[in-house]
Amino acid sequence: MKAVISAGSNIDPTRNLPSAIARLRRHHAIRVLGVSPTYASAAVGPAGQPDFTNAAVLIETDLDPGTLKSELRLLEQALGRTRAGDPYQARTIDLDIVLYEGFSGNVDGTRIPDPELAEHAHLIVPAADVAPRWEYGEGNSRLIDLATPFHDRISRIMDTQLTPVRNEHYASERGMEAAVDEVYDPELEANVREMIVQLGEDPEREGMVRTPLRVAKAMDFLTSGYTTSLDEIVNNAIFESDADEMVLVKDVEFYSLCEHHMLPFFGKAHVAYMPDKRIIGLSKIARIVDLYSRRFQVQERLTNQVADAIEQVLDPHGVAVVMEASHFCMMMRGVQKQGSSMITSAMRGGFRSNPSSRAEFMNLIRD
Ligand code: ZN
Repeated sequence: MKAVISAGSNIDPTRNLPSAIARLRRHHAIRVLGVSPTYASAAVGPAGQPDFTNAAVLIETDLDPGTLKSELRLLEQALGRTRAGDPYQARTIDLDIVLYEGFSGNVDGTRIPDPELAEHAHLIVPAADVAPRWEYGEGNSRLIDLATPFHDRISRIMDTQLTPVRNEHYASERGMEAAVDEVYDPELEANVREMIVQLGEDPEREGMVRTPLRVAKAMDFLTSGYTTSLDEIVNNAIFESDADEMVLVKDVEFYSLCEHHMLPFFGKAHVAYMPDKRIIGLSKIARIVDLYSRRFQVQERLTNQVADAIEQVLDPHGVAVVMEASHFCMMMRGVQKQGSSMITSAMRGGFRSNPSSRAEFMNLIRD
């Protein structure tokens, strides 16, 4: 289902708004389809409150409205928002479901669609940016038409103003923004910068100025398995077949991060299955390995997850997965000699019950 989320902040919005959007992008059950430009609007309530910065996000999700709402609450809490007390207090971040496809009702005391959507410029204008043809209200008016009268009551913040030079805290604020499709998460960047300082280095020195941004991007990519789904990967790549001989994909390179030290472990995976009427494109097996590698892992669980995934999508007579990897946390910290590797395996169905199948597989991967 599609939904429109209204996002607003009046405490450090240049950091909190992009961080909230980055967290939505990383959420395993949420796919961000579009983000509106940002707008400035005066705070509602007692005078003296800083202006709000507002945006809208169009998402796709399988979460029902109630679950989505609780996920948004958790996300707000992670960014330091407390929802107790003064309703007019300043907010690090406000995330509200204003529209949810095919749904009209009460969720936890909140009406969806938001009955005030077409009454406030800071709600309707950004919503119309991401979902112009969405129909709303008794007249089934399109958002783009409802937003027209409000355009002169709100000011669009130019993208460069969203990342002003302010204390030059982190790389993005120096105008070194992430490129399109790369993570832009000032909060994550600031945390990396803080870690560099705590470790005794100077994040301002030449050579390290962009490091917080680079590390944030790298970690975002190396953990992208959390936000990719097996369905997405397998999509349309399963074929009917009468073949019943073992299918083996050898030497699939993989790179993962150990969950104890967040250091890389990497090596090769060997994946075999005995088909039962269904086979899968070979490149998809490598992508399944990536899906589970790009997370914080222990090698044993990673091996089992790859086997589980093959079982789930193909329901074959048997699955065998062997992974051999070197772990930086052992190599670099001097716990174990360099070059030594760890081998894990998961045998299912025929590979478990039939020693000769298992022996054939082990022979083939040894070559
Ligand atoms: Zn480790």
